[in-house]
Amino acid sequence: MRILIVEDEVTLNKTLAEGLNELNYQTDVCETLKDAEYFISIRNYDLVLTDWMLPDGNGIELIAQAKQKSSRTAVVVLSARDDKDSEIEALKEGADDYIRKPFDFDILVARIEARLRFGGTNVIEIQDLVINPDEERIIFKGVEIELKGKPFEVLTHLARHRDQIVSKEQLLDAIWEEPELVTPNVIEVAINQIRQKMDKPLKISTIETVRRRGYKFCYPKGA
Ligand code: CA
Repeated sequence: MRILIVEDEVTLNKTLAEGLNELNYQTDVCETLKDAEYFISIRNYDLVLTDWMLPDGNGIELIAQAKQKSSRTAVVVLSARDDKDSEIEALKEGADDYIRKPFDFDILVARIEARLRFGGTNVIEIQDLVINPDEERIIFKGVEIELKGKPFEVLTHLARHRDQIVSKEQLLDAIWEEPELVTPNVIEVAINQIRQKMDKPLKISTIETVRRRGYKFCYPKGA
């Protein structure tokens, strides 16, 4: 999951980025509207967390841009404005949530996770397959499978979005630190490892290649 943090208070954006990185989110950080627009134009975000008052304009201008790029991107506005009209304005502009400063970090994270529809636990259970992202463990029929690093993250991302086809670009944005600096080939390598290290020995199939469109989680078949 990739989050763009737009906040001109440098200590605050550092704290936000560090806290979110610790929770395994990929983050990009910027301090101005202009830089935020640039990031939105080159990368896909699951969520944009933006301050309202930025040195070169209003963060709420990013709502329309982020939604236009991808309607799935959630936008959460942070603001020192504590009047109800500002909150209503942000929500009317399309913000998914509005958080007043000062805020409690744990509450902010809980609200971000609610936006990203995580629910109470990160553990993904699909019949006899259990994926635990926090512990980087996969258990199949009670036996642990050795799959770590990027292949593990690719599998987790696809399992989490198993109702949809996920493109290579979306996988790169969600999982790689600097998606522009790697070739899409790294996805094929990761998928291959999932098939070799997990599917083959277990005689199951977890990921289907959808020609020209990407990949889809397909375990159990027909589900
Ligand atoms: Ca500000």
